[in-house]
Amino acid sequence: MKKERVVIIGSGPAGLASALYTARAQLNPVVIVGPQLGGQAAITSEVENYPGFPGGLSGPDLVDKMKEHAESFGAEFVYDIVESVDFTNGSPFRVKTMMEEYSADAVIVTIGADPRKLGVAGEIEGVGKGVSYCGTCDGFFFRGREIVVVGGGDSALEEAIFLTRFASKVTVIHRRDEFRAGVQLQKRAFDNEKIDIIWDTVVEDVQFGDDGQVNAVGLKNVKTDDTSTFPTEGVFIFIGHIPNSPIFGDQLAMNERGYIITDDRMRTSVEGVFAAGEIQDEIWRQVATSVGQGTSAAMQAIHWLEEHEEDLQPLDETPEPAGD
Ligand code: NAP
Repeated sequence: MKKERVVIIGSGPAGLASALYTARAQLNPVVIVGPQLGGQAAITSEVENYPGFPGGLSGPDLVDKMKEHAESFGAEFVYDIVESVDFTNGSPFRVKTMMEEYSADAVIVTIGADPRKLGVAGEIEGVGKGVSYCGTCDGFFFRGREIVVVGGGDSALEEAIFLTRFASKVTVIHRRDEFRAGVQLQKRAFDNEKIDIIWDTVVEDVQFGDDGQVNAVGLKNVKTDDTSTFPTEGVFIFIGHIPNSPIFGDQLAMNERGYIITDDRMRTSVEGVFAAGEIQDEIWRQVATSVGQGTSAAMQAIHWLEEHEEDLQPLDETPEPAGD
């Protein structure tokens, strides 16, 4: 078992910021990268709203720069996936990955949430070619174009309204004949002249033109079973997110949707375990906000470790695994 002061689970912007700050505090954090270095940021084609980069840069480039920055202060990145954790006995915590087992004095959880997918043909291959899960990230690229928004919750309507700043027309496609979104948002959507609504309809596939870009969606009315092709250049999907929290089971307090509950200092329900980014934030979901939360979590972890300095075992004394 490897003994570490800080283990960071996840390598999105929150994890990368936590890595930088804890590394700079000379804690030599270990970052368990997970399935995708950079998380959702790594699949964002263009990030134009991260401060300090006028003209923007690609998600992968930003992730590489953040990783390099954290490594320059001593963060270690391990390409591995966390299988289970044991927070039940307090610090030091057990973190078991596919290849290793760690004992960590403090843990920062930045494992993110994934946009729920429609699961239709063309959806995944359309990412970067017209399919998007983030209006703030990609709306700008659809100036003057006609796009569709899929979903009927607060996110779908909020993003549809936001996207009317760019698109010439936004057609919301919802599977029922009433929205789940709050009434105020509904009123704003109904009052917006650029927004049309198609009720009782699901997207069956995403279609592409000869240039490889999205040019239509296949639709089906769930009441009549009528099918049709709806031309569009952009497909924005907002049908909820799925937080990557199941590995924590009941060890961390979560809300009813599976997001980890943190206080204003990014502390979870377990002392010494902190969380940042989209695993605990259902609302903002920006690279910049995740970086801020990751920074706060790291600073709080640094404070917490300082406060408990006398209780910490030296890093060269590896505790034996309990019960095995
Ligand atoms: P949500 O409330 O779960 O809504 C998801 C929407 O997508 C629902 O309309 C649902 O349809 C639809 N949907 C789900 N799966 C689908 C599928 N496979 N195919 C087609 N449609 C599908 O998710 P959300 O809008 O992301 O909101 C999440 C939470 O954040 C909510 O509590 C929300 O209130 C909150 N939030 C608040 C604000 C705000 O206050 N400004 C903004 C954003 C989010 P059905 O309605 O038929 O189930």
